[in-house]
Amino acid sequence: MSRILIIEDEVKIARFVTLELQHEGYEVEAAHDGRTGLEKAESWKPDLLILDLMLPGLSGIEVCRRLRQTSDVPIIMLTAKDDVSDKVMGLDMGADDYMTKPFAIEELLARIRVCLKKHRVDVAQDAGTREVGGLRIDPASYSAGYNGTPITLTKKEFDLLNYLWQHENHAVTRDELLTNVWGYEFTGDTNIVDVYIRYLRQKIDDKFGIKTIHTIRAVGYMFRYEQNA
Ligand code: CA
Repeated sequence: MSRILIIEDEVKIARFVTLELQHEGYEVEAAHDGRTGLEKAESWKPDLLILDLMLPGLSGIEVCRRLRQTSDVPIIMLTAKDDVSDKVMGLDMGADDYMTKPFAIEELLARIRVCLKKHRVDVAQDAGTREVGGLRIDPASYSAGYNGTPITLTKKEFDLLNYLWQHENHAVTRDELLTNVWGYEFTGDTNIVDVYIRYLRQKIDDKFGIKTIHTIRAVGYMFRYEQNA
């Protein structure tokens, strides 16, 4: 279960949020000043931070700024007043979202879910894994699959699919594919691209009844996922 750190000097609010989050199944720790909170964030490594901006010692803005030098943990700021400049500063310092006090706990819970989900997607994309409509590739392990069914691709087929997917919704020319997938030194027949596109279509589009690789007349090819072939 996700770990959430709340840094909030108003002990009543910190306790209330802690109890509500624990009730939702989160593991929760609380800190009541900026410096303790920053230390706890660095040592405990929470999955998400709820950070009050007006804190004794180190301000929330400063906690956010320092934390962002080493961490991309999702941060939801709490602001006491409807102060636009505080929010802007917080967002500029790398906070992901904010709530103005007093807030409804249901809204905070919803924002936490969104932040955690978005962060997981970001992490997956950083790792190179791509997924759309059940089709998934992982360049780190050269594996691919559709709704759990593995797709066996040669290295060249994988590289071609990966390159097209990196340029999702953009037409890519045969020359660009030759240069980037086969390498600058390639001197063979440019029809090789069409041959490999055919292999990919057989293994993915035809097999699973989806459409991913589109022919763009007079240009080349484009990756775009469509459910109905
Ligand atoms: Ca405060």
